[in-house]
Amino acid sequence: MAAVIDGTRTSELVRERVASEAAEFVSATGHTPGLVTILVGEDPASQVYVRSKGERTREVGMASFHDQLPATASQDEVESTVARWNADDRVDGILVQLPLPGDLDSKPVLELIDPSKDVDGFHPVSVGRLVANQPGLRPCTPAGVMELLHTYEIPVTGAEAVVVGRSDIVGKPVALLLLHESATVTITHSRTRDLAEVTRRADILVAAIGRPQMITGDMIKPGAAVIDVGINRTEAGLVGDVDYASASEVAGAITPVPGGVGPMTIAMLLSNTLEAARLRRTQ
Ligand code: NAP
Repeated sequence: MAAVIDGTRTSELVRERVASEAAEFVSATGHTPGLVTILVGEDPASQVYVRSKGERTREVGMASFHDQLPATASQDEVESTVARWNADDRVDGILVQLPLPGDLDSKPVLELIDPSKDVDGFHPVSVGRLVANQPGLRPCTPAGVMELLHTYEIPVTGAEAVVVGRSDIVGKPVALLLLHESATVTITHSRTRDLAEVTRRADILVAAIGRPQMITGDMIKPGAAVIDVGINRTEAGLVGDVDYASASEVAGAITPVPGGVGPMTIAMLLSNTLEAARLRRTQ
């Protein structure tokens, strides 16, 4: 039976670390790191996410700001809101909650964010720094995957890592982070021939697909570390992209859903906000 990789506990450890380092930062610089969330419209799920990001930010001793725009806001209004926070020295991180409602185009909005405040890590400058392995802000969920591997001392250097999924927000960045730590990385997707043959090679298997319980035990190498990024709402409740029951019989270590990668995302957002504050004051 696989060891459980506990994301809830690991996210608490990250938040404790951020809280203590944020306190040191405040006493060294006199500046309290700040994060602003920008929400356009009143989507209930987005409201919950934004509220919990605000609460967590305050819990670690950082400043939290929130900018609420109506669903009727124009593209110009959303963009000028971002520009205003770019110019506001109280905030080190700007998070635009996605998706934007209606016909609003998120791409130019995200590209307007000052890269030094890009705590989501989606700005092309941040993407370029990630590709080039230069210091910068990394996307939160992929960074959370790496934090889990480190915390559970899962060897990455030289490991065969297989990432299922090639999205810009999870699959590609997690593959790059694994590569930069010298894993031998394979990225798979919906056109991959004989997926199971590829996944069975993985010492580290990351599933970021968005298909409930698609990765079954017979697709996993005995003893592998399985990181399930998937969050799927089904009639049976919240499930991952990995079939936990069969996978945990074969894997050496595995993340549950919920309680695996999910809680890591906000923790890494807080870590990025502190990192942004540091980088902004040393550049
Ligand atoms: P996405 O943009 O829809 O990408 C899914 C990827 O899976 C695509 O690259 C797709 O291939 C691939 N795929 C789909 N069907 C496949 C199949 N049958 N075999 C192999 N590959 C297949 O999804 P995402 O945004 O990366 O999110 C993935 C999952 O992670 C979702 O469940 C999402 O809810 C979850 N998620 C969780 C967090 C968190 O924990 N905080 C954050 C973000 C996302 P193609 O490119 O060929 O279409």
